[in-house]
Amino acid sequence: MEMISDVYRGFRSLLKGMGVTIRHFFRKPVTVEYPRERAVVSKVQRNAIVLIEKDDIGSHNCIACLQCEKICPSNCISITGSRKDGLAFKRPDTFDLNFALCSECGLCLDVCPTDTLGYSKQYDKAGYSREDFFYDLLDQWKATEETALGTLREIERKKKEEREARRKADAEAKAKAKENDDGDEKA
Ligand code: SF4
Ligand code: SF4
Repeated sequence: MEMISDVYRGFRSLLKGMGVTIRHFFRKPVTVEYPRERAVVSKVQRNAIVLIEKDDIGSHNCIACLQCEKICPSNCISITGSRKDGLAFKRPDTFDLNFALCSECGLCLDVCPTDTLGYSKQYDKAGYSREDFFYDLLDQWKATEETALGTLREIERKKKEEREARRKADAEAKAKAKENDDGDEKA
């Protein structure tokens, strides 16, 4: 009698185990076959910082204000910049990141006035020495920099024209108001 009950318990436990296996067999896998497949990176994943593209420029929009460099608690950002012809703001000439020191705190993203910093989606960069983690953030933008400068100059020119038109309209409105006041006084 005891043997029958043992066989019954064993069979039940086997069915339970098989049930779990079958359930998971038809579930969507949560892993990928790396490196043949690449995982989709979560939007909130932190990684090395990168300069991200602004659609209206077709390039990053760093104005070399150095705020990210100043706030970085690990001193891992180093930027130089200069003012280019026809632009009212600077563009970076160099933008270096020592990712070996970065704590991914996100402070640099928080202070960026043009929201042009983001996190890289590449999660598997490897290296054999510290130098392998020194990144030039302008590298990917070098080929398109001249085109971006042209677009920025055009945006700047349009803004200047709009400012000029507004100034002219204000001056005309003031002159007209003065004319009306003078007319009222004479009457
Ligand atoms: S995430 Fe933090 S540590 Fe890394 S570069 Fe930005 S400010 Fe520095
Ligand atoms: S805070 Fe933004 S705009 Fe200023 S230097 Fe850093 S990346 Fe460029």
